[in-house]
Amino acid sequence: MKINLYNTLTKKKEEFKPINEGKVCMYSCGPTVYYFAHIGNLRAYLFMDMLRRVLKYNGYELRHVMNITDVGHLVSDADEGEDKMMKAARLENKDPFAIAEFYMNAFLEDLKKLNIDMPEIIARATEHIPCMEEYVKKIIENGYAYETENTIYFDTTKLDKYGLLSNKDVKEEDLEARIASDPNKKNPNDFALWIKAPENHLMKWDSFWGKCYPGWHLECSAMSNKYLGEQFDIHTGGVDHIPVHHENEIAQSKGYSGKIPANYWMHVEFLQVNGGKMSKSLKNLYTIEDLKQRGYEPAVYRMFNLGTHYKKQINFTFEAMDAAKIALNRLRDGYLKHKNGNDDVEASVIKEYEQKFLEAINDDLNMPVAMSVVWDVIKNNSKSKKLAALIEKFDEVMGFDIKSYVPQVEELPEDIKKFVNERNEARANRNWAESDRLRDELISRGYSVKDGKEGTIVEKI
Ligand code: AMP
Ligand code: ZN
Repeated sequence: MKINLYNTLTKKKEEFKPINEGKVCMYSCGPTVYYFAHIGNLRAYLFMDMLRRVLKYNGYELRHVMNITDVGHLVSDADEGEDKMMKAARLENKDPFAIAEFYMNAFLEDLKKLNIDMPEIIARATEHIPCMEEYVKKIIENGYAYETENTIYFDTTKLDKYGLLSNKDVKEEDLEARIASDPNKKNPNDFALWIKAPENHLMKWDSFWGKCYPGWHLECSAMSNKYLGEQFDIHTGGVDHIPVHHENEIAQSKGYSGKIPANYWMHVEFLQVNGGKMSKSLKNLYTIEDLKQRGYEPAVYRMFNLGTHYKKQINFTFEAMDAAKIALNRLRDGYLKHKNGNDDVEASVIKEYEQKFLEAINDDLNMPVAMSVVWDVIKNNSKSKKLAALIEKFDEVMGFDIKSYVPQVEELPEDIKKFVNERNEARANRNWAESDRLRDELISRGYSVKDGKEGTIVEKI
């Protein structure tokens, strides 16, 4: 069945046609590892994971590269300010390479916790300096760059058009600011390819132009070219990458090979908090660990994300996380009920569910619609192993590893255990008034009390 994907380059949903049949080559812009990833960043990687899963569900083989930026990303995407790694090193009083190592490992751990399907290739910028050097040399040779005292810039006026993704309409004041960052820069949209490292800069490499470090945009172009060639299928990132980073990647590829590197460009919208930006200073920046400490396992955050299409902003609230937690429990309980059921379900019913699910995911990864099919399966009155198997199949896309789910039996706190024992004793003595009093006590403390054939079951509500 065909897959339609929204392409930022053409600004429409298009049928996906890979360059090589049955195989998808793609590149995702990875994190800059100067701090822990926040849950907004992680939305971008849950989107990347979703795309991988949908492509695999459709039978494609993947060759997917994600970079780790551990040098060259300045505080502003447009070549201004300090290198983010150097800034973190200064603030934490540590070596920038140690900072990169620490936060890269923390990031990879977060991906594991979220059960994110890992790209086949993880490419770390500092391990690819020679290939970046070769890349920049060819751009210079092809006449798309110029030197200033400290920087080799890409000359955007050499292109037929700069700004293919965003149909550039840059505000005057932004343009002036970009020139102001280096008065020797010829045009506001020009950007740094190769930068001379100041004396105190710890991340630098010997090169054809002395001790230098690469520009952030160059990293992605050089590494995608190394692993995927001059042209590949899909390039992903966050919407913030559209106006600068990805425009510059396209510019570099044009300067290097004359080609646009990817056929489909896909961008995930931002996660917001209470309708605004997530930031450390506003104290509304959360990590996966923060969520865990508040009682939300990482899978709850995955469920939260499945409720909104990737091209829409999501507003993060703890109320919405509570709803996602309930939904996750409902999914797991419903799955187990089907797994333990012995009803039969007609093949045509299963086929219809499968068809609807596939139509939804292949319609530009419409997960909210796909999830409505999942809920229909869960709610089906016939409890059937066939429906459990179907949920397992859909889980190849949802990513909850539902097959391995084992219900957790929570240990009751000591005071609650005491009430339960006293109530069991009262019931054994047929002291119903006392038994009712203890039941009410347990309920008022937030527990449900069910007296069944196999005894009393007390659970936290
Ligand atoms: P960075 O480490 O800053 O390069 O960002 C890593 C990824 O997170 C990029 O793909 C960004 O587009 C993405 N990103 C940053 N903030 C958010 C957010 N609030 N919501 C969604 N994605 C984000
Ligand atoms: Zn990138």
